[in-house]
Amino acid sequence: MSARILDGKQLAAAARRRIREEVEDLKNTRGVVPGLAVLLVGDDPASHSYVRGKERAAAEVGIYSVVERLPADLPQRDLLEKIEAYNADPRIHGILVQLPLPDQISPEAVIAAIRPDKDVDGFHPWNVGQLYSGGEGFVPCTPAGILEMIRSTGEPVAGRHAVVVGRSGIVGRPVAQLLLQENATVTICHSRTRDLAAFTRQADILVAAAGRPGLITGEMVKPGAMVIDVGVNRVDGRLVGDVRFDEVREVAGWLTPVPGGVGPMTITMLLYNTLWSAKRTVNGT
Ligand code: NDP
Repeated sequence: MSARILDGKQLAAAARRRIREEVEDLKNTRGVVPGLAVLLVGDDPASHSYVRGKERAAAEVGIYSVVERLPADLPQRDLLEKIEAYNADPRIHGILVQLPLPDQISPEAVIAAIRPDKDVDGFHPWNVGQLYSGGEGFVPCTPAGILEMIRSTGEPVAGRHAVVVGRSGIVGRPVAQLLLQENATVTICHSRTRDLAAFTRQADILVAAAGRPGLITGEMVKPGAMVIDVGVNRVDGRLVGDVRFDEVREVAGWLTPVPGGVGPMTITMLLYNTLWSAKRTVNGT
C-alpha cells in the first residue's frame, strides 16, 4: 500500500483563495484592510526566509503588512516600544515577533507585551489559557494548520488514538489539545518516553514534532495510519522531516511531505488569524 499524500501546498492555495475573497469583501463592505506587523530581530537566515514567506503570502491575499528588520543588538526596551506602537495602531490587527530572539531579549516579556487581541501567533498567555479552557482566542498557526490538514482528509478523529511526538508550547501541546477537543484519545510522547515505538505503533493519527530527522521509521507506524510530519530539519543542505518518508509511505494511509506539507498551512493560518482579528474589530467583539 502506498500512502495518499496530504499536499499542504494545494490545501493552502485553496484556503488562501477563500481568505483573499473575504479580505476583498471586508474592504469593499466595511472599508477595512486587515493589517499585519512582523518584527524580525537579527540575521538568522531561516528567520529571514520565513518572514519573506509571510510577507509574500500576506500580499497575495491583499493583507497590508509592515515588516521591520531590526539589528541583532536591539535592546529589549526598543522592541517593547515598537510593540506598544503597533498595539495602538488601528491599521494593525495582528502583531508577530519572529522567534528565536537574540539573548538580550526575553521572548516571554515580548509575547506578554503584545495585545492578546492582536496576538495572531496565539502565544500570549491569555490565548494559551483560552485554548486550554475551551474559550475563544487565537490558536497557534502550526497546530491550527495541522488540524485543517487532518480535517481535509474527511477521516473521523473522534474516538481515534492520536499520538503526538513532542510537547513544546508551540506545536506538541497545542496540537494535542486540539485533537482532544475533537474527541481523539491523545497520547503525548517526548524525549523521556520509554519505548517510543510502542506508542507510535498504536497511533491512528501520528503527529511527529520532535525536530529529529528520520526519527519515525516505517516499523514504528501502524498500517493505514495518518502521519503528519511537522519536523523541519536541515540535513546536508536539504530540508527533511522527522519521518522517513520513503519507508513510511509504504505503510501509512496518509502522509504529509516535507517540504510542502505543514509549512504552507502554517502561514495560511497566520493569514486567517489576521483576517479574523480584523473582522472582530469591525464587529466590535
Ligand atoms: P522543540 O525543540 O521546542 O520541541 C521538540 C519536542 O520533541 C520536545 O518536546 C522534545 O522532548 C521532543 N523530542 C526531542 N527528541 C525526541 C525523541 N528522540 N523522541 C521523542 N521526543 C523527542 O521543537 P518545536 O516543537 O518548536 O518544533 C518541532 C519541529 O517542528 C522542529 O523540527 C521545527 O523546526 C518544526 N516546526 C515546523 C513548523 C512548520 O510550520 N512546519 C512550525 C514550527 C516548528 P522534551 O520536551 O523532553 O525535550
